[in-house]
Amino acid sequence: MEKFRLLRQHLDALGDSLEWHQPTPISLAALKQVHDADYIEALVKGQLDERAQRRSGFPWSEALVRRVRLETGGTLLGARLALTDGLALNAAGGTHHAHADFASGYCLINDLAVVAMELLRRGEVERLLIIDLDVHQGDGTARLLANEPRAFTFSMHAGRNFPARKASSDEDIALESATADDAYLAVLQQAIPRLIQSVRPGLVIYDAGADVHKADRLGHLALTDTGLRARDAAVIETVRGAGLPLLAVIGGGYDRDTPALVARHAMVFEEAVRARERTPYNEDHEPGA
Ligand SMILES: [Zn+2]
Repeated sequence: MEKFRLLRQHLDALGDSLEWHQPTPISLAALKQVHDADYIEALVKGQLDERAQRRSGFPWSEALVRRVRLETGGTLLGARLALTDGLALNAAGGTHHAHADFASGYCLINDLAVVAMELLRRGEVERLLIIDLDVHQGDGTARLLANEPRAFTFSMHAGRNFPARKASSDEDIALESATADDAYLAVLQQAIPRLIQSVRPGLVIYDAGADVHKADRLGHLALTDTGLRARDAAVIETVRGAGLPLLAVIGGGYDRDTPALVARHAMVFEEAVRARERTPYNEDHEPGA
């Protein structure tokens, strides 16, 4: 999708406010902790059948495999940078519809679940909270982490939208179609502080899907640019205010007006930069060690 390249270009305008890091592809071992080994082997070797490829939303290619492994490597690198520096973002990620043994809805591997399990397994974090605000339910993440009490999954989404058959996250909020800025933000501002307090995570992973926007063709919600920016700012401020490390991933966005879509995905980066300038994460901490 062209939006990724254009987002990178767009973000270059932020100059030195952003420090870029290049991930390495996620290991197959990390993928197999969450996904079925047979599925991962078929994906890597190009043995997914026609039907599986159709369901994924993409024709198979070696470049596609490299791309999704780099994307999940980016989420892992971002999580580690967040744990060190307090705040990091992946200019991709949020592939929350991928299941244990099949791809779905443009998601081949589930970066959120894979990274959560990798960090937990290695003891890099004891508990984490996934705040999924993409307009679609994080059904894959919910199922993949259902038996992992150290990873709390929260999804706030449009109730009448893909996937038709919803999973059970640790907490779900299904919004009415056409929910607009004020109502959306009111629900969010009630939920996030409560979740942080009850889960007490060592890391928050935020899926900042831009498909909640009123112009998104797969959305069904009615957020404006102002509402979307306020949403990103609210999550960042609340998590940082609680002194917690935060990794954001960009999630979905499907407006055919690519410049407008890219500007929406850029908001979470811009709000992160702003928050960082306003309130250093921890002044006693020397980042980059
Ligand atoms: Zn989505």
